[in-house]
Amino acid sequence: MGYIDLHLHTTASDGVLSPSEIVKYAKAKGLQAIAITDHDTIEGLEEGLSEGRRIGFEVIPGIEISAEHLPGSMHILGYFLDIHHPLLNERLEYLQKARAERNPKIVQKLNRLGIDINFDEVLKASGGGQVGRPHFANVLLEKKVVRSFQEAFDRFLKKGALAYVDKFRFKSKEALHFINEAKGVAVLAHPNTLGINGYSELEKLILQLVEEGLKGIEVYYPEHSSSEVAQYKTFAERYGLLATGGTDYHGMEKNGLDIGVGRGEMKLPYSIVENLKAVRTRSLLGR
Ligand SMILES: [Zn+2]
Ligand SMILES: [Zn+2]
Repeated sequence: MGYIDLHLHTTASDGVLSPSEIVKYAKAKGLQAIAITDHDTIEGLEEGLSEGRRIGFEVIPGIEISAEHLPGSMHILGYFLDIHHPLLNERLEYLQKARAERNPKIVQKLNRLGIDINFDEVLKASGGGQVGRPHFANVLLEKKVVRSFQEAFDRFLKKGALAYVDKFRFKSKEALHFINEAKGVAVLAHPNTLGINGYSELEKLILQLVEEGLKGIEVYYPEHSSSEVAQYKTFAERYGLLATGGTDYHGMEKNGLDIGVGRGEMKLPYSIVENLKAVRTRSLLGR
């Protein structure tokens, strides 16, 4: 039995390999199954699933949703999604629209501060691709509003700065709702990025998320310390949650991290996939 990897990004979000490339790569590495979990999009899934069928390799349709949370970041994974589910598609389109409104709002804020800048200039700086804050920084630098890229972020663009506009995010309850509606199994990704001090706070949050429809915790993750893994595992057992794992591989070897194995410590058994399937079946029957 080969190993599995349930947390992977492709070019549909910020990964380097296309969905079909990552499927081929996983098979070549001797894995038994993977999940594609791009940030806030299911656009890579059709391609990944069909490549899996073509070469005879199991691909689980997934997603990784960013939810509203402070002070750290909360990511929620969804597995075995029905990718044609209308609510899922409607919510993701809504998210895209809301995100697209972010850049014009930054322009507006800069204008109100007396800075002469328009969206076309920023679009040009992006070379026609996806516009992000670095492109704003380049334009501000070009216009000599700031003396360095860093100054552009510090004074205007970073979180809390004068022209900062927060990214739209769903509340955890909303994200968990549409994942469940789309027949997915929802799992809290890498709990160590939540920025929560102390395990009792985390426990409270997990209980709240369970109320909202959470079914598992990503226990095994390259950036989790062994004591974190032990604690997350305890929570999973205590509350009858799935213990899943993945490398968060983005398609390039970063500090020796690779698909399926992380930095050599991962090696997750296929039984995790079987557990996911069992939970999915049980919750579909319970509807
Ligand atoms: Zn994440
Ligand atoms: Zn990720």
